[in-house]
Amino acid sequence: MASLTEYKKKRRFNKTPEPGPEKKTSELGNIFVVQKHRATQLHYDFRLEADGVLKSWAVPKGPSLDPTVKRLAMQVEDHPVDYADFEGVIPEGEYGGGTVMVWDYGIYAPENTRSVAQSLAKGELKFSLLGQKLKGSFVLVRTRDRQWLLMKHRDKYAKDEDIAETKPVSAVTKRSLAEIAEDEGGNVKKAATGDPKKLPRRTGVKRRRKGAKRKVWAH
Ligand code: MN
Repeated sequence: MASLTEYKKKRRFNKTPEPGPEKKTSELGNIFVVQKHRATQLHYDFRLEADGVLKSWAVPKGPSLDPTVKRLAMQVEDHPVDYADFEGVIPEGEYGGGTVMVWDYGIYAPENTRSVAQSLAKGELKFSLLGQKLKGSFVLVRTRDRQWLLMKHRDKYAKDEDIAETKPVSAVTKRSLAEIAEDEGGNVKKAATGDPKKLPRRTGVKRRRKGAKRKVWAH
């Protein structure tokens, strides 16, 4: 049974703006999110909703649309479903301290299984993503312990493009990591090292005041 005990243990909720350890189902029931996270190392947190939580993997190089590429995905603690909306800054010194971006979000459909939890327990889950950036069929395969591989299947969405490089900004606010850090009181210089050298200029996207609530796309 999924549990948020480990999630809760790692965090001080009077210090971090991250959501509390509440188990629930999203309105859609099958959301996914990929959060670009400039902590000690830049990585992409890949999360699939199942069993009232977000099953989570840290993918150092991020997802790829190229079916010949295998991306290492380290399973990490389950996160609350509300975490899918989190874009902001975890204070330095706290667990995962650094800037977090909602790099992609959407819904997913498991393939050839009636139970995501069961497939994950067996060490292989095929699924199809319908995101803003990621689309089509993928697979997660466990190699050992918490170590998995994330791969794209061959389909019409497969392509030879480093999508983490070509589409670097937030799928929700269009902000770069540095812009999120700037808006939310984080370390801009550190966040900028997670951005590609050439970024699209900040356009007319409305900037939020620090701490202002944005409309959530799922609950
Ligand atoms: Mn992370």
